[in-house]
Amino acid sequence: MQKSKRIYLDYAATTPVLPDIADFAKKVMLEEFGNPSSLHEEGRKAKACKEKAREIIAKAIGAEKDEIFFTSGGTEADHLALLGIARALKSKGNHIITSAIEHSAVLGACEILKEEGFRTTYLQPTKEGLIEPEALEKAIQKETILISMMMANNEIGTIQPIQELAQIAKSKGIFFHTDAVQAFPHIKLDVNALSVDALSISAHKIYAPKGAGALYLRKGTPFLPPIRGGEQERKMRPGTENIPGIAAFGKAVEILEKERKSDSAKSLMLRNSLEDGLFKALDDLILNGHKEKRIPNNLNITFRHADGESLLMYLDLNGIACSMGSACSAGAVEPSHVLLAIGRTPFEAKSSIRFTFGKFSEKSDVEQVLNLLPPFVKQLRSASATGRFA
Ligand SMILES: *Cc1c(COP(=O)(O)O)cnc(C)c1O
Repeated sequence: MQKSKRIYLDYAATTPVLPDIADFAKKVMLEEFGNPSSLHEEGRKAKACKEKAREIIAKAIGAEKDEIFFTSGGTEADHLALLGIARALKSKGNHIITSAIEHSAVLGACEILKEEGFRTTYLQPTKEGLIEPEALEKAIQKETILISMMMANNEIGTIQPIQELAQIAKSKGIFFHTDAVQAFPHIKLDVNALSVDALSISAHKIYAPKGAGALYLRKGTPFLPPIRGGEQERKMRPGTENIPGIAAFGKAVEILEKERKSDSAKSLMLRNSLEDGLFKALDDLILNGHKEKRIPNNLNITFRHADGESLLMYLDLNGIACSMGSACSAGAVEPSHVLLAIGRTPFEAKSSIRFTFGKFSEKSDVEQVLNLLPPFVKQLRSASATGRFA
């Protein structure tokens, strides 16, 4: 029997690498092998490669070249922002504000800071996953030095009013970081219009290989480098750079800036048709996240009275890759902290599936999910009708 094509609907976890980007990364890996800190020609060429990527990325988000620092990805960019800024401001105050629905990278950095004597307030979202500016205003204390709020949520896709939130911070002289890893593929970023001081992005969410990311850090932002060593990245992030990864990241941003609009429009169309189709075919569904203020490729649905792990496994066996909550907490059977924060019960959270679309998604992918999933959900529900687990 011929193996049929897999259907990938997990673009929020990671994107496939575009062939052109892979070719470029390979060329750079083979040709620009020099250490960018070396003074000879091999080193200078590798450095030029990195600086080209920096220029592309800075321009794409409205930053200056020397405000971009390369990292190993989104997790490290988030850590640099939170640890670097908070530690530099420790003498001014020890209070940080973030949200209860941040990516584990931001939550993890807050845990480290807690061990160092910082206090964190975790703002609770509305039931649609929005952080309200009034809630932020109320949470600000005399000792607040840093606010970190993600731009688009990786699980439910909700888009936060970052500009408004950052303005509040600015008016009180508090530094503001946003994790824009999940927003970048869909939303044109401008660090000045947003008035953020720090912003994280990652390469493998925009069709480049894993292991590269960037932190935007506004000039003049207090920063104590969490990693010390060499002089790379102007001492802000020492370590010999991932040149092929960084070069590929630059190439991916170049493509993204050209194709974001059309990609997002296509994702929106497919996402809406899956959303409509599922809600027509099944009762007892909950749409997680905000209906409108949501990145165009995200669909997170609670299939009440149907176990999410069974749904996920059934889809996988039938050639469809999607996700329960976030990829980072997969494997662990803990219900998603994001879904709990927007009011799902633990059972409901564990009955939730995230579909995320991207460049290679097709109408037939949606049709296949609509053929397979509703009958299976009904089957699961009737099988467990006597002893419903939720
Ligand atoms: C994927 C992701 C990260 C982590 O980025 P990595 O490059 O995988 O370390 C951080 N924040 C959000 C919102 C993400 O979606």
